[in-house]
Amino acid sequence: MAPRGLTRRDVLRNSGAALGGLAVAGALLEPGRAGASLACEGNCYPPADEAERQRYSYFQKQLPGLKYYQDRGGFLSAIYPPLEADEMRITFMGSAIPPTRKVQQMMSVFVEVGWDPVRKRAKDAFVFDCGSGVVANYGAMEIGFGRMDKIFLTHLHGDHMSDLTHIYCFGCASDRLSPLYVWGPGPSGVPDPKPPHQLYDDGTKAFCSHLREAMRWHTESFSFQPTSYTASYPTPAEIKASWGLPALPAAVSDDPWGDGYAMVPIELDWAKLGGVAYDNKETGAKITHFPVIHCRKGSVGYKLEWNGLSMIYTGDTKPERISIEQAKNGGRGVTVFIHEMVVPAEIWAMQAQHLPRPVPRGANQLWDDSVDRAIAIQDSSHTPQGAFGYLLSQVSPRPQLMVATHFPVSDDTVDCAMRSVRNHVPDVGNLGEQLTFSFDGMVISAFAGGRKVTQRRAEVLDFGTLPVPQLYGAYSVPKYHFESGLPDPYAQIDRTQEIQAGEQTYCRSGY
Ligand SMILES: [Zn+2]
Ligand SMILES: [Zn+2]
Repeated sequence: MAPRGLTRRDVLRNSGAALGGLAVAGALLEPGRAGASLACEGNCYPPADEAERQRYSYFQKQLPGLKYYQDRGGFLSAIYPPLEADEMRITFMGSAIPPTRKVQQMMSVFVEVGWDPVRKRAKDAFVFDCGSGVVANYGAMEIGFGRMDKIFLTHLHGDHMSDLTHIYCFGCASDRLSPLYVWGPGPSGVPDPKPPHQLYDDGTKAFCSHLREAMRWHTESFSFQPTSYTASYPTPAEIKASWGLPALPAAVSDDPWGDGYAMVPIELDWAKLGGVAYDNKETGAKITHFPVIHCRKGSVGYKLEWNGLSMIYTGDTKPERISIEQAKNGGRGVTVFIHEMVVPAEIWAMQAQHLPRPVPRGANQLWDDSVDRAIAIQDSSHTPQGAFGYLLSQVSPRPQLMVATHFPVSDDTVDCAMRSVRNHVPDVGNLGEQLTFSFDGMVISAFAGGRKVTQRRAEVLDFGTLPVPQLYGAYSVPKYHFESGLPDPYAQIDRTQEIQAGEQTYCRSGY
C-alpha cells in the first residue's frame, strides 16, 4: 500500500526493489535485505512529549566533550585543541538542510590532518562547503580565516556557499593575507528550456568572478588596511606543482597575485570520476572528486585521503551507484563516509505545517501541495532515509563510521531514521556505533593504525570573541595609504560633517 502522498508509481520508482535489477558498469546491485517486504507505511509521527523534538540526546548527553576554551585565571579564553600527529579531525560546522534552524547552521565540514608543531596548527586543512551561518561555528572553535583558505564546494546551492561572502570579505581583516582558493564544479551544460536555449555559465569560475565584483565596495573600503604580506608569494606555477592542481591557478579579477582579496577558483570537470582536485606531496593530503546526482547536473562529492585514512563527503545527492563504489574504495573501504539524508516527505510536510499527524489525501489542498513539493524535491535531489539504508547495505567493507548529514536532527527524527536504516542493515547496531547523525560541533577523529574512530562534542564559548590571528611576517603597504606608507583611514570618506575627537567632544582613545 502506498504511503500517504505517494502514488504507487512513485513508491516503485523510489524503492530498493525497483533499483535491484539495474546494472551499472557491468555490475549488478544486490537486492536490499528488505527485498519485496519493504514497509513503506509511515509510523514515525511526532511523539506526545514535545521535549523529544527539542533535543538531540545522543550528541548533547552521550558524547564526551572536547574543550575549546580554558580558564586563564578568571578569564575564559578560546583555545585550539592540538591534533595528534596521526589524526584526521572532521568537525561539523553546519549540518542542516534548509530552512534554517537555530541549533543547526547550513552545511560545512572542516577537515584537518596532522599537526605542525612549529606553526601550531594542523598540517593541512580544508573547508567542504560553507552554507549560511557556519562562520559563527568556525569562530567559536577558534578557527580563523587564515586556516579556511581552501574551500571545496560540492555544488552552488545557497545552503552550501552563502558564507563564502563573509569568509572572503573578512579574511584580510583577520589573518588571511593570501588568496582564497575555491574548488568547485564547472558549468552544468544544462540548456535553458526556453528558446533560444541559452547555456548559462553557472560554473564555479563565473560564480567567483561575479562574487568578487559584487564585493567591490567592501574590498575597496577595507583596503586602507594591509591585505598582503611583504614576503613574495609563490607563483601560480609553484602553487600548481606543490598542490597538484588540475590547472594553473589564476585570480578572477585585477587583484595582485598573492593578495588577500585575490579569489582563485579551481574549476573541476564535474563529470570526471576520480579527477584529482588537490594532491599535496608535502602534507600528504589528496582530494579527488566524483559526480553525484542532485537537482541539476554539476554536483560533485569529494574523497580525501591522508596517511592511510580516508573520508568521503558526498554533498547533496540522490541515491546513486558511484558513491557506493567510492565507499567500497576498491575493496579497502573508507574510514569515514559522510552522506546526506532527508526525512520522509510526509514528515517534512508535517514539520512545515506544525502538524502531529499526516492529513488524509484530498482533504486539504495546502497539505497535498506541501507533500507533493517535498516529494518533488526528494525526487530531484535527495536521499530518503530508507534509500540511505539501502545504500549502506551495498557497501562492503563498511566504513569505520558512517555519518548521515544535511538532516534535521532531534530524538524523534533520528529514531525514525534509524528504524528505516535498520530495515536494510539490521546489524547496524545502536546509534553512534557504526552510524551517527551529524550536528553542529560534532568532532570526529580518525587515527592511523586502525584505532577506533571517536566522536566528541565541541564545548565552546557562546560568548567568545574572535580567534587569535595567526600572522606570518610583515605587512605590505595598504592600497589606501598616507605618503608615509601608513594606512590612511580618511582616504575614502568625506569628513565635512564629521564630529572630530577633541577636548570639547570625545576622546580618541574611545573613552
Ligand atoms: Zn543542494
Ligand atoms: Zn543542500
